[in-house]
Amino acid sequence: MGVTGRIGPISKIGPISLIGLMTPSPPSSPRLPHNPKNPITQNNMSQLQQDIRQLCQKKDAVIMAHYYTRPEIQDTADFIGDSLALARRAAETSAKIIVMCGVHFMAETCKLLCPDRTVLCPDPAAGCSLADSCKADDLRKFKAEHPGHTVISYVNTTAAVKALTDIVVTSGNAERIVRQLPQDEKIIFGPDQNLGRYINEATGRNMLLWQGGCHVHARFNAGVIARMKAQHPDAITMAHLECSAEVLALADVKGSTAVMLKYAQEHPSATYIVATEAGILHEMRRHCPQTTFLPVPPEGADAGCNECEYMRLNTLEKLYRCLRDESPAIEVPEDIAREAVKPIRRMLEMS
Ligand code: SF4
Repeated sequence: MGVTGRIGPISKIGPISLIGLMTPSPPSSPRLPHNPKNPITQNNMSQLQQDIRQLCQKKDAVIMAHYYTRPEIQDTADFIGDSLALARRAAETSAKIIVMCGVHFMAETCKLLCPDRTVLCPDPAAGCSLADSCKADDLRKFKAEHPGHTVISYVNTTAAVKALTDIVVTSGNAERIVRQLPQDEKIIFGPDQNLGRYINEATGRNMLLWQGGCHVHARFNAGVIARMKAQHPDAITMAHLECSAEVLALADVKGSTAVMLKYAQEHPSATYIVATEAGILHEMRRHCPQTTFLPVPPEGADAGCNECEYMRLNTLEKLYRCLRDESPAIEVPEDIAREAVKPIRRMLEMS
């Protein structure tokens, strides 16, 4: 196992790094179609979704949503996907405006790939504990302490960290990309230690691992999963690669959200225990309405603790406002953008 990098606690939801965000001021117009203090009903939700789609048409905008966003956001989007799919779509789209419903680094990645487009982010406070676990200054120092290493960074990083990176990866392509490098290549891998450890074991490498992690995936507990497996002995257990080694050891299917979704679509008659952010269940149930998906931990027992608070900051009202006002828009300083786009392009070439 590789030597570890900076050791520190996994950051909890709280102050969020906004490196690269040039226009963080909140939308100011009072002309909201719905009062955000009142709960949104099915009727006004449908109306709001229609209003959003009309704005998209009028402004030549596309909405991209990550699998972990709220169901109503996914239902309004033009495209739903994991980080890799969203990055690919961003690179391909010809729309003038791209609204990224996800977290801040996803909107930033989108802006790096489409510098001439307006990239909007419904709530710029939607950060990521994993991205927060690796600061650019710390990585710069770590690189200086370990010269001669190729730096591979998970896409869940700020543009400033990507600018210090040789190749960006996602959970969907990390193993495939690492395997393309010479076996003796010296590699720093970060910031997700669980993904890095999994790839080290799968490929027989000895990459230096940054000790970062996602606070949502850190909550999944092997004991809870073992109990669920005992209650549902025929169920197939799926776990995201950001989960701990103990959780992954209990999983039959290990991979990105896209891998899990594909597996379920190909085997719809099974029952699944799902250890990742609960937002993916909406898309799984949409594709496989007859299939039983059991989220970890069980719904009701500890409701909400398998949800990413940052992803939930994306709401229909904020989506409507940001499209209407074309704000908040994401900007990345030119010197950072110039370097940060290179490892993303390298990823797209290698995956
Ligand atoms: S689930 Fe974890 S890795 Fe994904 S956006 Fe939320 S904090 Fe970041």
